[in-house]
Amino acid sequence: MAWIEASDRRCGRTPAEGYLCARHHTVAVRRWEKDQAKQAARAADAAQRRAVKLPGWRAELAKVQAEIDRLDPPTTMEAAAYLGDAHPSITRRRRAAMSDTRVQRMAALWDRHQQLTRLIGETP
Ligand SMILES: [Zn+2]
Repeated sequence: MAWIEASDRRCGRTPAEGYLCARHHTVAVRRWEKDQAKQAARAADAAQRRAVKLPGWRAELAKVQAEIDRLDPPTTMEAAAYLGDAHPSITRRRRAAMSDTRVQRMAALWDRHQQLTRLIGETP
């Protein structure tokens, strides 16, 4: 609030509100209200962009999930191993059973899966 426009730096009016004279207080309040409105508009924009992208994220997540299931139909425990939730020995055993390329592909798929899940805001 304690802000004075550069051109009015030598405002010598008697402070009415805090450090600011009545005129500059009004200007400061208006500027603050404008900032608030701008922030609200930005938040609305972000929500709008998110709403537009959500169906695409959901569709991609379904595709990623389908490819994961196709490459390696996992049990819940095995799927969790890729996400690092399971005991490391499960991950090791699981990865040993797969080719490097496939492991890399699966890791990439699970990364994307996690990313999309986070974006969508749902737990898998
Ligand atoms: Zn002033």
